[in-house]
Amino acid sequence: MPELPEVENIALALKKNLTGRRLTGLQVDFAGVLAQSTRVTRGALVGKVLTHVHRHGKYLILGFTGDDGTQAFLMIHLRMTGQFFILDGFIPDQHVHLAFDFDGLLVHYRDIRKFGRLELVEDGIAPAALSHVGPDMMKVRFSEWHRRIGSRRAPIKALLLNQGIASGLGNIYVDESLFLAGVHPEARPCDLSEETLREVLKRGKQVMRLAIKHGGTTFMNFTNFHGKPGNFRRKLRVYGRGGQACRDCDSVLEKIVVGGRGTVFCPGCQAL
Ligand SMILES: [Zn+2]
Repeated sequence: MPELPEVENIALALKKNLTGRRLTGLQVDFAGVLAQSTRVTRGALVGKVLTHVHRHGKYLILGFTGDDGTQAFLMIHLRMTGQFFILDGFIPDQHVHLAFDFDGLLVHYRDIRKFGRLELVEDGIAPAALSHVGPDMMKVRFSEWHRRIGSRRAPIKALLLNQGIASGLGNIYVDESLFLAGVHPEARPCDLSEETLREVLKRGKQVMRLAIKHGGTTFMNFTNFHGKPGNFRRKLRVYGRGGQACRDCDSVLEKIVVGGRGTVFCPGCQAL
């Protein structure tokens, strides 16, 4: 599933390739990925110029402006398997549901599981549809994050995955962040010092910055805008390495379930 770094890479690519371009057509092959009808979505967007790209957590918002100054905003959540492609000679398969025509430049939306959603919203930064989502994990200040998490009694991993507290971290980067901070995934924030929590947030931001730089992590379904896989996978310290040796000590990495999610940690480096 794409997490914050993967979505940030898509945001950067959309910004770079499409800003200032006019959407001249929208082909819809499966309308189920649209929150509104095809007619309403086309009516709102076609004819307008892409003027801004905003990312909040794992959400993207594209802002379009018409010649008369009217604006429209399209919020996108890729969920499990949503992908965008801008490719020369790209041949759409049966999983491509939308083709955005930016005045001759085609951008395809592909989604194998069809859980992704594209929704017209009323604002380009803070639409009502995002009111249940916490601050962006890359931008949140420690004081605000600490206020939201510091006294909680649930396992820290479950809280880091809770998008209502802060938005952007998923299973991969939570496991990596907790390993780098030396914190057990089942530790409770209420039992941890402020210093330790500061380290968790710092490491979380650090691991995401690094992943953005490396084009994200590719497992089943993430490729970047040009169809190339991200190469962060080989940098992963614990995720996907259960049963293998820790790279920092002699322990064998353990696999457990926390908050319903498969979790890998080092019993040596991350003692409870
Ligand atoms: Zn270790």
